[in-house]
Amino acid sequence: MTPDPRARAVEISDSVLFPGALQVDESAVLPVDRLDRLASAGFYGLAGPRECGGMGLDDMATALEVIEIIASGCLTSAFVWIQHHGAVRALVDAPRVLRDAWIEPLCTGAVRAGVAFSGLRRPGAPILTASPAGEGWRFDGFAPWVTGWGRIDVVRAAARRENGDIVWALVDAVGGPTLRPEPLRLAAVNASATVTLHFDRHLVAPERVISIQPFDEWQARDRGSLRVNGSLALGVARRCAALLESDALAAQLRECRRALDQASAETIPEERARASELALQAATILVVSGGGRSITLDHHAQRLAREALFLLVFGQTGAIKAAQLRRLYDGSHG
Ligand SMILES: Cc1cc2nc3c(=O)[nH]c(=O)nc-3n(C[C@H](O)[C@H](O)[C@H](O)COP(=O)(O)OP(=O)(O)OC[C@H]3O[C@@H](n4cnc5c(N)ncnc54)[C@H](O)[C@@H]3O)c2cc1C
Repeated sequence: MTPDPRARAVEISDSVLFPGALQVDESAVLPVDRLDRLASAGFYGLAGPRECGGMGLDDMATALEVIEIIASGCLTSAFVWIQHHGAVRALVDAPRVLRDAWIEPLCTGAVRAGVAFSGLRRPGAPILTASPAGEGWRFDGFAPWVTGWGRIDVVRAAARRENGDIVWALVDAVGGPTLRPEPLRLAAVNASATVTLHFDRHLVAPERVISIQPFDEWQARDRGSLRVNGSLALGVARRCAALLESDALAAQLRECRRALDQASAETIPEERARASELALQAATILVVSGGGRSITLDHHAQRLAREALFLLVFGQTGAIKAAQLRRLYDGSHG
């Protein structure tokens, strides 16, 4: 195996993911071999410590570039895979029993995780609640977006208890009377098998609770964690720049990456808005350059353009949305 994770990512991205990206785009569900390939290269352990079977990367810039490279190959594959890493990171600090049972299979990709937390960003009454049930909890409500259904084994789910704290739990990704996935049809990354997940008196055993976290603490961390999803937009822009063989776009990409890397919690919404604009601009240039053929379903340009549209809204927070709208209405890029 190539020792440099970036080189390994380029190899998979260029030889497996990109050549199959149009086929994935038209699939009902992402073929599992893409995820197996990422797992066998060690990438399910991207966020895991070495002693738990993870890659033990202490260099964030490398991890972010790996995400960008994989996204440049096939956004759908990257999108399903990226949902996994929060579970690995959370398990590192989880109670011993939970950590010992799950972290190694998560790091190797023997167990694949999704996440259900975006409802926490919605203002107003919580849409997924946790009430005490015996030693454990009962989850009721819904998670609006859960990606990878049918390709994940567990979901790291966040529900709010009566005092507002968040109960984080590792829930089996198995539908049933108390856990109902409602499939969503998407204009891009449809094979990501994204569902709305309905919880109806769903019981969570105490040994599946990862942590209980004050809401304010989560909000502060959420504001500081917005850099990662920016690498998906960089990945789309990177592929467009490569297909166009454009030095000008490659230079804009480097500048956008640098600005994202240097952004503070206050400035990151603006830089995320800029990154998704760059992806859209790059995909638009690719469409225009390809002429009418760009719109045929066997052309990467239309796929990348739809993916760039999707990245305008995926991982959007109130602050990112405000920055995007300000830039779009003002035409001001300051
Ligand atoms: C295809 C797809 C797949 C996804 N997969 C996952 C997944 O697997 N797991 C997961 O956890 N999340 C997932 N997400 C969620 C993703 O991170 C969200 O895009 C993001 O959290 C915003 O969700 P939303 O668009 O539903 O929010 P919306 O409710 O539409 O709000 C968008 C933003 O505006 C803010 N906002 C909304 N209303 C108001 C208001 N009245 N006042 C102030 N601010 C407001 C919200 O706080 C939010 O940040 C997915 C999203 C998409 C589109």
